[in-house]
Amino acid sequence: MEQIRKVKYLIIGQGLAGTCFALHCAKKNIKYVIVDKDTPNASKVGAGIINPVTGKQLNKTWELERFLIYSRSFYREFGDFFVEKKILKVFKSEKELEKFKTRINASEFKEYLSDNFQLKKITNDLNGGFQACFINNGGYLKTGEFLHHHKREFIKRFQYIDDFLLEKDLHIFNDRVSWKNIEAEQVIFANGSNSNFSFLNKLIFRKAKGEILTVHIKDLDDSYIYNKEIFILPIGNSKYKVGATYSWDLLDDIPSFDAYQYLTNKLKNFCKKTFKVLEHNAAVRPILTGRIPAIGKLPDLSQIAIINGLGSKGALFAPKLSEMLFMHLENNKPILEELDVKKRFYSF
Ligand SMILES: Cc1cc2nc3c(=O)[nH]c(=O)nc-3n(C[C@H](O)[C@H](O)[C@H](O)COP(=O)(O)OP(=O)(O)OC[C@H]3O[C@@H](n4cnc5c(N)ncnc54)[C@H](O)[C@@H]3O)c2cc1C
Repeated sequence: MEQIRKVKYLIIGQGLAGTCFALHCAKKNIKYVIVDKDTPNASKVGAGIINPVTGKQLNKTWELERFLIYSRSFYREFGDFFVEKKILKVFKSEKELEKFKTRINASEFKEYLSDNFQLKKITNDLNGGFQACFINNGGYLKTGEFLHHHKREFIKRFQYIDDFLLEKDLHIFNDRVSWKNIEAEQVIFANGSNSNFSFLNKLIFRKAKGEILTVHIKDLDDSYIYNKEIFILPIGNSKYKVGATYSWDLLDDIPSFDAYQYLTNKLKNFCKKTFKVLEHNAAVRPILTGRIPAIGKLPDLSQIAIINGLGSKGALFAPKLSEMLFMHLENNKPILEELDVKKRFYSF
């Protein structure tokens, strides 16, 4: 008979959420084990861009200051995976430009936006004589490398199990949970868009499939992340990630022809250089209603805690959210009300 292995946390999922939670445990020498089936998850497929000011309305990300400084220093603490890069935002319309003009004078945008200029002053590689601006203090996480590196470390320390947890195999007791030969005080569901568990059915998801291309573009200046409807993210060696699409109907991870056409057409319209598509990937973003993540213990099953709903901003949110959850479980530190899973169940 297999020996029982006791840990404090059984973590389900090694995307950004599960990985960051595990790293908090590691820092405090707390025993954990991660169960993950190595499939194309949102974290690996995603571009990892941290953009402080987003969308047509040029809105500052929710609770930006709370997350931004923390995430950048967290990624640096655990390796060389975060790259600071200016975002060259090209205005699509007069309306966007007008919005920018109202933002640039507001003190809360000072650190993040710099003055507008003719795009041609910066580059001739892009089509059109548009106005543009810089978004500062952003960059991107090399998500694939970050996850792969830590997976190797977890495996070395016997903290990673390559398996898929089925609900029927998870046994929940008053003071612990058990799964196969693992016994834990708490299970952490960092399971992304796979919400197929009866105890999560009171959370309302608005998942969105996203698709992204990796392309080769010769001689495109790689000093910036370009943004106009799509992003073009330089990742080295003349390679760029181009994305991303949003679709809410077919929630699978199969690359589609429609998305391929959409992204290649947008890229042709935006960039003068010829390109060659090297890869096309798809995954589902875990989004919860309200577009704000949720963390904490389930209201009716306190041995189960979750960290989910990272949406389109997993790279920004994962380090601090996982710290908040960790501090809550370890030190009983209260969770921000908007994030508390107890407030996000539609009824219980
Ligand atoms: C195309 C695209 C582009 C994106 N671009 C960006 C971007 O530029 N910047 C940004 O910040 N975010 C971006 N995102 C969003 C970001 O990727 C997500 O917010 C983030 O990755 C979610 O992380 P997660 O750990 O919650 O989920 P996931 O990354 O999906 O990880 C969940 C893990 O749990 C595992 N799992 C689930 N159920 C089980 C089970 N029962 N047993 C074992 N394992 C299980 C899965 O296999 C998976 O590995 C993008 C997403 C997509 C799809």
